[in-house]
Amino acid sequence: MQFDDLSFWQRQRGGKNLTAFAFDPKLLRSAIFECSPPTLFGQVHGPALEAADNVKVLLDANALELLPGSATRASHGRKTIGGVSVRKTQGGNFTVTGRAYVVAAGAMESARLLLLSDKVHPAGAGQ
Ligand SMILES: Cc1cc2nc3c(=O)[nH]c(=O)nc-3n(C[C@H](O)[C@H](O)[C@H](O)COP(=O)(O)OP(=O)(O)OC[C@H]3O[C@@H](n4cnc5c(N)ncnc54)[C@H](O)[C@@H]3O)c2cc1C
Repeated sequence: MQFDDLSFWQRQRGGKNLTAFAFDPKLLRSAIFECSPPTLFGQVHGPALEAADNVKVLLDANALELLPGSATRASHGRKTIGGVSVRKTQGGNFTVTGRAYVVAAGAMESARLLLLSDKVHPAGAGQ
């Protein structure tokens, strides 16, 4: 499949309304492009993650909520994160704790997770 083949995308589900922009093709070309090859993260990076002593990968586990930490002197009264509530897809909850927390769940889900975490702040973590 040519990534830039418009007719391919038009044959896909929902693609029949996909058209090139109505610009003069001599002046402006419509294009569908990718900047990087598709990467299956587990295949490419899985072995390095398994071998790492300081990384534990939890699959089929969804972060539900950031939990508030106990206020410490170091936090100067600011709200801190004390853990992440997680649910396994097969059922069952557990909490993950760490020294630092990185929210990297993608643009929409990261915002959703922060907003849902209203035990940290009534308007969501990060307020
Ligand atoms: C159709 C499309 C094509 C793209 N093509 C390209 C391209 O060719 N080249 C390029 O450089 N960029 C491309 N991008 C952009 C690129 O994919 C993003 O910029 C990049 O993936 C963002 O990385 P991220 O780690 O921030 O988030 P993501 O890659 O979205 O990773 C977030 C991860 O968090 C997981 N997650 C979400 N919610 C939870 C939760 N509650 N608990 C646990 N885990 C959770 C998700 O399953 C996912 O694995 C494309 C994007 C799209 C949508």
